[in-house]
Order: sequence, then structure tokens, then C-alpha cells
Amino acid sequence: MTTELKTGGQYGYLRIATEEAFATAEQIDAILRLVAEGRADKGTVSLWGFYGTSPSERTTFIRERLLDLGELRVQAMDECGIDKAVLALTSPGVQSLFDLDEARGIAARANDRLKDACERYPTRFVGMTAVCPQDPEWSAQELRRGKEELGFAGVQINSHTQGHYLDEEQFDPILRACADMDIPLYIHPQGPPDGMIGGMVEAGLEGAVFGFAMETSYHALRLLTTGVFDRYPSLKLVLGHGCEGLPFWIDRFNYMFNAGVRSQRYPRLKPLRHSLHHYLRTNVWGTNSGLPSPASIKLLMEVMGEDRVCYAMDYPYQFVPDEVRLLDAMDISHEQKVKFFQTNAEKLFGI
Ligand code: MN
Repeated sequence: MTTELKTGGQYGYLRIATEEAFATAEQIDAILRLVAEGRADKGTVSLWGFYGTSPSERTTFIRERLLDLGELRVQAMDECGIDKAVLALTSPGVQSLFDLDEARGIAARANDRLKDACERYPTRFVGMTAVCPQDPEWSAQELRRGKEELGFAGVQINSHTQGHYLDEEQFDPILRACADMDIPLYIHPQGPPDGMIGGMVEAGLEGAVFGFAMETSYHALRLLTTGVFDRYPSLKLVLGHGCEGLPFWIDRFNYMFNAGVRSQRYPRLKPLRHSLHHYLRTNVWGTNSGLPSPASIKLLMEVMGEDRVCYAMDYPYQFVPDEVRLLDAMDISHEQKVKFFQTNAEKLFGI
């Protein structure tokens, strides 16, 4: 018999899901227009060319669920025993769009819509701000509006912006705003940029199956190795999908990064104040979105510290109530489960 999942602290902890997606119709329309005009990058063509148009049961379900910020979503949360969802505009946000007026408008209206939903379900929904990194100064202002007027708890940036990465100087206003206003920066995947995607599409590996994690972990490593956390020691970075694999590789990164610095081969690689491991344990949080694996979650807890690992479901892309049952039954202590499902997210997002 399958145990019924209940909200309200069934096992002595609330369940907070920290990487849950929604979309707006105009966002999807704008992306599909780019795809139809042949102007979108290969990752966007593959991701939204499929999710936006395929008539399959899975994609129809996902489209319907992404657009809903009401009863359907709350019912799904009830079914999984999820008390709260931290919501963000789905990947790639507006980051594929070339028309800046259009991109800023879609992001701002998505934020307004999310704010309304959070007001309708104040105990169930928590918002993250959508920005338009193509315009860093506007994004910094929108981050302020998100934090001060809309009551949002973080920002989601869908990895690269047209092949550019947040360690580049042009994006400094965004990092500064996050650090100054204590806004957790959730870097969520999207398809690798054309300069990186190589043969991944032909191999069917450019998406959530693999390419997402490769590109997003690369993005995060760029922040770590170029000294972003020495510049902004209070900056909080959140990564999904088992922290995009970084904890598994960290000792090798650290050893070879140090060798690279000593060799003076790379003008951008300078000695850092701390080891890469230190930043992983100080500035980075990991969630298990899309990775309901007790072994991976325990590895994250061991490498990053048990205060830095949070639960996520990745609804509606991976809506599997049995995953919650599996994680409820993990062989970790009760105190660790309380942190994982509830209190780490409460502290990180200030909720
Ligand atoms: Mn996701």
C-alpha cells in the first residue's frame, strides 16, 4: 500500500520545494516566434521547439501546468505533500530574446503575475524575480522591485545569456544587487549556447539529460574561479540538480585550478583568498531538483555541509509523487531531514 502524502508536517517537517517553474503565454509566444523565424539558438530551438509544440501527453501536461498558478498547481502540491513552492519563470526566461523592450516587458509582467499568485496563496507560494540580463542595469532595478515591492525571495537566472556569463564585467550590476540586497541567485540551466552545444543535439544530450548540467556547472565554476566570491563574499549562489555535480568533482577542480594559477598560463586565473571547496561550503547551496537520489543528496551534505542542501521537485517537468516517498525514507537522521525539506530553505530564502 502506498502511503498518502500530506502537507502540514506529516513527519515533523514541512516540505518546501525550491525549484518550481511557471510560464506566461506571452513568454512562450515570444520564444516560439524566434524559433519559427529561425533566429533562436540551437538550445532554444531544441527545448521550446519541442515543449512548445509537441502534442505528446508529457508536453501537453507540462504546458498546461506551467501556465497555471492556481488550483491545479495547489492540488499537485497537496498530492505530493508539498507545503510551499518557490516559483520562478521557466527556462530560458526572457534570455533568448533580442528585442530588449519586449524582453523587459515580459519579465516585469511575469513578476506582476507571480506576485498576484503569491497574494492569492500566501502560505503556499514564494516568488523569485525574473530579470533580463541583456540589460543589467534594468535587472538590478527589477531585483530591487522584486525584493522591496513584490516580496520575492530570490532571483532565477537561466544560465548563459546569449553565450555570455555572469562573471563578465557587464553583469556586475546584477551581482552587486544580489549581494547588497541579500538576494539568493539561483542559476538554473538552459540549453548550451551555440558555441558549446557541438554534437549534443545529434546525440540527444543537450537538454536536462546532460547538457544542462554541463553548461550550468561551467557557468558556476567561472564564478568560483574568477574570484566573484572574493569580490562579493556575501553573495549566495543556488544550484539545482545535485548542485550540478560540482560537489562530486570539487577536489579535482581545486587541485587543477591551483596548478593552473601557479602556471600563470591564464591571465584571468589569479590566486583566490580561499580554496574552491571553501566557496562551495560558504557561498553555494545545492538542491536536488530532478535528482531524487539519496546517494547524491548524502554526498552533497557531506561535501557542502548539511545546512546547504535543499529539497526541490522541478514541477511540472518532473512531477513524481513517489520521489517524495523515497526521500522521506532516506537513511539520514530526522534532524537532517528537517533541514533538507524545511529549515535550510527557510533560512536561505528568508521565508
Ligand atoms: Mn528546473
